[in-house]
Amino acid sequence: MRTHNLGYPRIGSQRELKRACENFWEGKIDKKQLFEVGQQQRFNNWQIQMDAGIDLIPCNDFSFYDQILDLIVMFEVIPERFKTLNEKLNPLELYFALSRGYQNGEIDVTAMEMTKWFDTNYHYIVPEFEANQTFKLQYDGIVKSYKEAKEYGVKNPKPVIVGPLSFLKLGKSKGQHFEIKALISNLLPVYIELIGKLSNEGVQYLQIDEPFLCTSLSIEEQSMYRYVLTELFNSFPDVHFILATYFGSITHNKYIIAQLPQCTLHVDLVRCPEQLDDILTIIPDNVNLSLGIVDGRNIWKNDFEKSLKIINKAVEKLGEKRLMLAPSCSLLHVPYDLDMETNEKDLPAVIKRWMAFAKQKLIETVTLSRLSSKNPFDFANDLSVLIKNTEDISTRNNSELVHDALVQLRLKEISEKDLEREKPYSIRHELQQQLLNLSLFPTTTIGSFPQTTKVRGLRAKLKKRQITPVEYDQQVEDAIKDAIRWQEEIGLDVLVHGEFERNDMVEYFGEQLKGFAFTQNGWVQSYGSRCVKPPVIYGDVSRPLPMTVKWIVFAQSLTSKPMKGMLTGPVTILQWSFVRDDQPRSETAMQIALAIRDEVLDLERAGINIIQVDEPAIREGLPLRKTDWQEYLDWAVKAFKLSVAGAQPRTQIHTHMCYSEFNDIIEAIAAMDADVITIETSRSQMELLDAFAHFKYPNDIGPGVYDIHSPRVPSIDEIVNLLEKATNVIPYKQIWVNPDCGLKTRGWDETRRAIGNMVEAANKMRIKFINI
Ligand code: GLN
Ligand code: ZN
Repeated sequence: MRTHNLGYPRIGSQRELKRACENFWEGKIDKKQLFEVGQQQRFNNWQIQMDAGIDLIPCNDFSFYDQILDLIVMFEVIPERFKTLNEKLNPLELYFALSRGYQNGEIDVTAMEMTKWFDTNYHYIVPEFEANQTFKLQYDGIVKSYKEAKEYGVKNPKPVIVGPLSFLKLGKSKGQHFEIKALISNLLPVYIELIGKLSNEGVQYLQIDEPFLCTSLSIEEQSMYRYVLTELFNSFPDVHFILATYFGSITHNKYIIAQLPQCTLHVDLVRCPEQLDDILTIIPDNVNLSLGIVDGRNIWKNDFEKSLKIINKAVEKLGEKRLMLAPSCSLLHVPYDLDMETNEKDLPAVIKRWMAFAKQKLIETVTLSRLSSKNPFDFANDLSVLIKNTEDISTRNNSELVHDALVQLRLKEISEKDLEREKPYSIRHELQQQLLNLSLFPTTTIGSFPQTTKVRGLRAKLKKRQITPVEYDQQVEDAIKDAIRWQEEIGLDVLVHGEFERNDMVEYFGEQLKGFAFTQNGWVQSYGSRCVKPPVIYGDVSRPLPMTVKWIVFAQSLTSKPMKGMLTGPVTILQWSFVRDDQPRSETAMQIALAIRDEVLDLERAGINIIQVDEPAIREGLPLRKTDWQEYLDWAVKAFKLSVAGAQPRTQIHTHMCYSEFNDIIEAIAAMDADVITIETSRSQMELLDAFAHFKYPNDIGPGVYDIHSPRVPSIDEIVNLLEKATNVIPYKQIWVNPDCGLKTRGWDETRRAIGNMVEAANKMRIKFINI
């Protein structure tokens, strides 16, 4: 059975690309040096895939920032506001300006929006379409990468392109609303032109990603799909198309599948193994099947016995020749190489034995293909591979490290009462105001302050034992002291300690919770050059000791202003970790919620009156199909409530979410019943607030007024303008003033200026509204 791969991580096993990009932005290296690093990564990746024995290797899955941005540039979908930059900047500069914004003297252009790639933690740049958007193939980077791969020695390089309908569906309208139906006739010819070029170069296999096939589509969309796929595939009889779907099931779009033109259909059998039966019955004779059998999004070792059963079922029905094997989706979402993990303390060998990273997953794919073959050429070897795999899997199922009876008992005893605050919001609000006495438009920040080289260096030094734990604590305390002094000076109302002690908002908690393990090099790309190293949740979760109390109490001791305690919420910890696949996600979420609940109560007992439980990941956990949303939202909201509901009515609970669109989940957001919610709104110019306005959201809201993903500093007037927009739709008494998100990725200079402007803007608003 042939194997293929949908995409490979591109940041480099040591995050080489991240470093190169950041050095380029800082002017430390030039374009040529940056390009060299890029090419080296592509070569490394192709080599690894060739060595593993993968038959079809993707050739253009590399990107300097994001693969959707690459398409945006390739099809010249450059938003109007960048047109003036067009002449000033070279293409690479423009590329980075689109993704990061541009500020230079008089010129000041905000970046394009960014949002989560389906239910993953990867962010793509959102295409901006006009009602009469035109497209032009202005750059054929994909042809170049095909040739480059071929020259390198890749036998059948496979271009990978997000399909035209998914590309349109990923976009949003700026200004006048656009109709997909209207734009597709402009876009399709450009795809055909591009594929024509590839076909002329001799491309034999081409992957078209249409993840939206896993979502619910209207009748109209379904017929568009039929039309577009038929047009596209039939235009190139010499190209074999692989239509890739992932992150869900496609069987509800039967109508499209049953009428597919000749191609190979790739399906995600990790997320939705149950779709196979249906697919095997509806798949037409001219369509082959690619079984996404190795988990492209999680780090667990493949259970060969289980996978072989699934593969055999498909073989019986379709025969080996019509099948291919692959990871379930692009391996972009998993780290590079498990072999690089050598630290027993963070990742004990017993646990490592249960895992596989990208490189291992390629080998699993190829091994499964061999094991499922009717004519194994090395039976003895294959048998021992299979036995070893079975042993690894069974040590995990039976491990004492995984199962904790006490946690399970506590979970069972949770009742409805544990999920509700003691008093309704209206009463809580009054009690909290009596205690906190906040002015109109209270100002605050989202938690973290710049993680400078110095701060990060402290942790490195502690690890290498160049400083003692006492020295480490002292220096973190010094950073907190400076941050508090500055916040008081600048006039913020609700202060934070700055999160200097945290490497990452999930890892920090994971390190102190039972049931978590860590990797040294398990980086995955989150956006652009930003990478995260998700913890691994392998067992039942509990909190042995307080995790944040010491720092928050220290910070509170330095000021008479209210200090906001900072915690990461259960859904976010779940969503940004590699989670167990041996129990429902909801169960793991509830276990984490209990641990956070313990922490909330300890903070409260220590005299902290405001506690923020961040849930930036709630929305990205939504399943692809709307019909599955409610079930998810029910348990996600329940987990959040379990974590905070134990707090006294006078304790003000904040939550924070970013990159979110709220329209379709506003009821769930309201059901979380946080006293204050801070959200990301600045890039959308407060558009996101509409959801809260229509819903008449009753509790307090802090719409972000400072885009922290960009180095540019918003002016006072700009912030006032945003706040005024907010007061047009939300009663002013409910409005808080804060940035979009934490400031850990920013520098101190820009932070000081931006937050200074923010406080000034809040003052202006107060003067305006005080007499109303
Ligand atoms: N409290 C976190 C911070 O300020 C929140 C980060 C986030 O929402 N991603 O960094
Ligand atoms: Zn955020």
